[in-house]
Amino acid sequence: MRVMVVGSGGREHALVEALAASRLEPEMYAAPGNPGMAGIAKTVDIPASDLTALRDFARENGIDLTVVGPEDPLIGGIVECFSEEDLAVFGPSRAAARIEGSKVFAKELMRHAGVPTADFEVFDREESALAYLYSTERYPLVVKADGAAAGKGVTVARAREEAEEAVRACFGGKFGPAGRRIVIEECLEGREASVFVITDGEEILPFLPAQDYKAAYDGNRGPNTGGMGAYSPIFWMEPATYAAILEEIIRPTLHQLSLIGSPYTGVLYAGVMVTPEGPKALEFNCRFGDPETQVLLPRMESDLLELMIAAREHDLSGREVEWSSEKAVCVVLASEGYPEDYDTGVEITGLENLPAGVYVYHAGTEERDGRLYTAGGRVLNVVGTGPTILEARARAYAAVEQIHFEGMHYRTDIALEAIELEDL
Ligand code: AMP
Repeated sequence: MRVMVVGSGGREHALVEALAASRLEPEMYAAPGNPGMAGIAKTVDIPASDLTALRDFARENGIDLTVVGPEDPLIGGIVECFSEEDLAVFGPSRAAARIEGSKVFAKELMRHAGVPTADFEVFDREESALAYLYSTERYPLVVKADGAAAGKGVTVARAREEAEEAVRACFGGKFGPAGRRIVIEECLEGREASVFVITDGEEILPFLPAQDYKAAYDGNRGPNTGGMGAYSPIFWMEPATYAAILEEIIRPTLHQLSLIGSPYTGVLYAGVMVTPEGPKALEFNCRFGDPETQVLLPRMESDLLELMIAAREHDLSGREVEWSSEKAVCVVLASEGYPEDYDTGVEITGLENLPAGVYVYHAGTEERDGRLYTAGGRVLNVVGTGPTILEARARAYAAVEQIHFEGMHYRTDIALEAIELEDL
């Protein structure tokens, strides 16, 4: 069978690798893919945003299943586009992907489903949003652009001035149409976790939870990024808390989507805050997380491709996801200046002879004449695995030491707190 992965980052590299290892021995394609996938997939020079070109390629090349990494093609309706020609995509319909495409949709859905989440108000006019900021005492609070803004549309505002600036930025067009409506919500305190399930809209196959690191610098300081690292499993999360996330957040949300006629198939990702009152949903995403996927898939013993096919065929009951007892830690190597302006085209060296138990996923690289260069903000994802987080982390950082490109920036504290909590 032929399987195509859409996307070009570290998450897609990890997906290609996991799918290629299937018992079904798929022939792998990646559009547009990246140089790290070269040995395991044929890369196809079509951007993830060109849905009709992807569909034409899938039809002409007999692609049996397309797996979508990033959210934009799903929010843009790749499932509907492909189904016009009876081509299969693993992922939610455009209507179901609104769970990520619109924060207002997601919050209202949660309210109707009784899902625990931060209290919120929706505004579609700047004046009324600003009036609200003057009328409330509930600082800090969180201002969110309604639409997808590549993770940059959320501001946790400590005081009114900061909130005002965020509101003006949204309505002033900083995020384009995504900022025409906004959500202002209560700021939740606690520990954050990422929870993933594969679902056919009814049955769920839970993954292990993972922890990601959004801030650019050590100690969770600096601007928010697409993600600077991750680890799994999470030692601090009690099994009862995880069960509550599945029963009180994931299941009612899926049920509500079915009720409104938008049943969900694919991976549902819940960003959760574990508060003293229990877990509350921060947001939903309609695809795998990046870089969480890079610490989950190397530990997965089940056949990912078979599970995706089973979800499409509503054949999930009685299945579960099996995991190795290995732990995994991912350190993201970024370009100097990321997430603000950065240069690309900087040569990368030191990827040969990396220690055993280390996986390097390409996130923003380019190959020219047999040499590797940076081509994005997040450049490489270095994943260490091992019997303990301590060892997995040591392996990841030992490999990082070997890799070099000018201006290479990474956090040095990924999974540090997990070592203190780990029961060695
Ligand atoms: P979102 O895209 O909604 O997940 O927001 C991005 C990040 O902003 C989250 O990962 C949280 O760290 C933070 N955040 C979002 N909503 C809240 C909230 N209500 N309270 C505290 N932090 C939040």
